[in-house]
Amino acid sequence: MATWNPWHGCHKISAGCQNCYVYRIDARYDRDSTKVEKTANFNLPLKRSRDGGYKLKSGETVYTCFTSDFFLPEADGWRAEAWQMIRLRQDLHFLIITKRIERFFVALPADWGSGYENVTICATAENQDRADFRLPLLLSLPARKKEIICEPLLEAVDLTPYLTPEIGLVVAGGESGSNARVCDYEWVLMLREQCRRAGVPFYFKQTGAVFRKDGRIYRIPRRLQHAQARKAGIDLP
Ligand code: SF4
Repeated sequence: MATWNPWHGCHKISAGCQNCYVYRIDARYDRDSTKVEKTANFNLPLKRSRDGGYKLKSGETVYTCFTSDFFLPEADGWRAEAWQMIRLRQDLHFLIITKRIERFFVALPADWGSGYENVTICATAENQDRADFRLPLLLSLPARKKEIICEPLLEAVDLTPYLTPEIGLVVAGGESGSNARVCDYEWVLMLREQCRRAGVPFYFKQTGAVFRKDGRIYRIPRRLQHAQARKAGIDLP
């Protein structure tokens, strides 16, 4: 697994952004998160090591644009080049998570067709309102692989209308950080049940920092949030 952050900085646009980790990390360095800039790693997929080989090794999944949003308006002028690098590296798989799925078509390459084979497009659905807005858009756009990310899960969400065979995975998780909002295990189980009925794979990624189970609140340290989710053993292949 590799990370590629071609640009850095973002703007909060929905409830899920409230405690954005990019803002939290930037605050430590007195950096303005709203200033969107290309990074020194803009062309990472094409960068080579001293031995002449690519720095990103063949077969890697590349988590793309995790300190910004790939479809951010400020990046419209850079996205065509980013897509070009993605197209050139067919040996990698690029995972793009966005809260701006409505901007998917801006600067989309002419040869996109029904989607590049090496790209998964993921839309975030942290609450019902954003699920109802973003997921019809996700379903309607051309992409080979699509996923739904319910993270940070902020309430009970009904994904039933959107769990079509083209959805390859639903991911659920809570919120981290000192101001984290509660994630209720019931909400996670409800998503799992919706996925089970629809035959869609489900992944409970992490509990978040404030986890409610059977009405009781648990404060989970960061290092245990993924492990606790694993322990629940509720993933669906
Ligand atoms: S879209 Fe993502 S990166 Fe941008 S502010 Fe929201 S949570 Fe942060």
